[in-house]
Amino acid sequence: MKASTQVRGACPHDCPDTCSLITTVEGGVATRVQGNPDHPQTAGVLCTKVSRYTERSYHPERILQPLKRVGPKGAGRFEPVSWDGALDAITTRLKEIAARNPEAIAPYSYAGTMGLVQAEGMAARFFNKLGASLLERTICSAAGGEALMQTLGGKVGMKVEYFAESKLIVIWGSNSIASNLHFWRHVQEAKRNGARIVCIDPRKTETADKCHEHIALRPGTDAALALALIHELIVHDWLDHDYIARHTVGWEQLKARALLWPPARAAAVCGVPVAQIIALARDYGTTTPAAIRLNYGMQRVRGGGNAARAIACLPALTGAWRQRAGGLLLSSSGMFPINKAAVQRPDLLAGRWPRTLNMITIGDDLLRDSSQSFGPKIEALIVYNSNPVAVAPESGKVVQGFEREDLFTVVLEHFQTDTADYADFILPATTQLEHWDIHASYGHTDVLLNRPAIAPVGQARPNSAIFRALAARMGFTEPCFLDDDETLCRAAFSHPDGDKVDFQELLDKGFATLPMADAPFADGAFPTPSGKCEFFSARLAAQGLDGLPDHLDNHETAGSASAFPLAMISPPARNFLNSTFVNVKSLRDIEGEPLLEIHADDAAARGIPDGAVVRVFNHRGSYRCKAEISKRARPGVVNGLGVWWRKLGLDGTNVNQLTSQQLTDLGRGPVFYDCLVEVQLDEATAL
Ligand code: SF4
Repeated sequence: MKASTQVRGACPHDCPDTCSLITTVEGGVATRVQGNPDHPQTAGVLCTKVSRYTERSYHPERILQPLKRVGPKGAGRFEPVSWDGALDAITTRLKEIAARNPEAIAPYSYAGTMGLVQAEGMAARFFNKLGASLLERTICSAAGGEALMQTLGGKVGMKVEYFAESKLIVIWGSNSIASNLHFWRHVQEAKRNGARIVCIDPRKTETADKCHEHIALRPGTDAALALALIHELIVHDWLDHDYIARHTVGWEQLKARALLWPPARAAAVCGVPVAQIIALARDYGTTTPAAIRLNYGMQRVRGGGNAARAIACLPALTGAWRQRAGGLLLSSSGMFPINKAAVQRPDLLAGRWPRTLNMITIGDDLLRDSSQSFGPKIEALIVYNSNPVAVAPESGKVVQGFEREDLFTVVLEHFQTDTADYADFILPATTQLEHWDIHASYGHTDVLLNRPAIAPVGQARPNSAIFRALAARMGFTEPCFLDDDETLCRAAFSHPDGDKVDFQELLDKGFATLPMADAPFADGAFPTPSGKCEFFSARLAAQGLDGLPDHLDNHETAGSASAFPLAMISPPARNFLNSTFVNVKSLRDIEGEPLLEIHADDAAARGIPDGAVVRVFNHRGSYRCKAEISKRARPGVVNGLGVWWRKLGLDGTNVNQLTSQQLTDLGRGPVFYDCLVEVQLDEATAL
């Protein structure tokens, strides 16, 4: 019988739950991945996606050796090449480009792994030393993050476990059952104890099904709803005057703004019954403790930052922060004392300040020539932890950019994704079972350590090792390029005045809980410049922006373009995590086909029967998928579930063929849910 061991790790995926994993290893082979029962946040439970993690690590289509392109870009034809051969060829090309201008080389990465080491550890050191273009990593949470920064002083909020004690929980823009499962556990406990649960979401999600009330507002109208709630708190005096006086800035200005938003006005903008707004305001104003779980869906529209700011004002108005089960949580990531500089070494820039590209506009940017304003044309792109051809907006342009014959593209990957198809070299990366990493979280306040459970599969190498090897070949001689991964993990929470996390505890238990107060803002002390909740932001006003939150119309407001009368949002399909897991067959089989949920009235008006193949289109492109007549879609809004790999869809496209590269009001984030379309029966299929 083979010896069996269990190794503690951390889920690397872009999910607020950051679960603690236990991997069972028999004879050097990982046979099972389970939730750690000793980690209170995980409680022994993983989602369906990650409980099949061994299926992912040992997937027959996993890339196990370096590959070199032999066919045209996008054809996906490659031949094996040795590591030395690949690294030599890559660094020869990078040296040539860097000699002209290192800013012509750009990284492209996001949260394919959330680990502090395998995400932007050695990679950041490499690009900093090189002087490559910097990247604004904005594709998910930038508007909401900036909103919290301007209002509360950072990505901070209530401790997730105390939602279980709340008496009213407002789940705002989150399909928690699908994407924040461990939070949902706390909601269930609160519900059993008599709490009222309200869901605010344009889509009638699985989560909305289980709530007492669902407010199905139009996409991009959340600020109007929040301002109307504030209006009602004011006119009914459901306010904590003492908290407002002592712990907020800009009350009189906010009051004047909110009084412009009576519920009837907001109801017309949001497309919901006025009575629903009035009832929610009453519940919120009169229930203690009341908690808001805000999530990022609502901020992927033009006014997403303002909307998150308006919502983040609510708990200070009622003094909800006084209780540990009251307040708001969008992200807890700002609670972690990460020493980013020790991991990423910005000092390697040595006084240079390269131009910054925004990952949202990669489609346009790859098609730009050199210019005074843009800087040098992008000549090389190194992609890791991301699949931009599938996930970046307006993918028709992204594909055009990746097709450029003069673009040199290197992709670090587990699989031959849509993006990898366009690579000149694909370098095989390790999965979470095969490398060291350390994790913060954006949904709880524990640090997790990930130890390698198995040796790298095939010739795969950790991202850190790949960038270490590239650095050596580029001639980077700084000692920091020799740091091993355990050293990088230790650096993440090291500080000159002492480590902020006990690394031995991480080695022993796999996780360590940050010391913090149960109700961190009961006495104000927000990490803003004023130390208060800033209803009015002097910092925004100094930038020439509105210092107060307001409702902003979408870039593409419903009714503004007669050719495209439907608003489309594109939330993730339940069994995928952005574009990750789409190639895991057992999960793809559950999803079936790319799907567009459409309300019965909208389908009838277009003669679309349930299950028909439809063409969804706008001025940016066209996408074929299957229509499902569904109560999950509100009239006038269709839900294009994402994010399918293009090549696994019906016609080699996905929903991002339709989304735009416009940016949000704050944070320069994406506007995936600010998108007008039309839908018609697909003629080719209908015949
Ligand atoms: S719930 Fe989230 S953190 Fe937990 S295993 Fe699934 S994807 Fe990972």
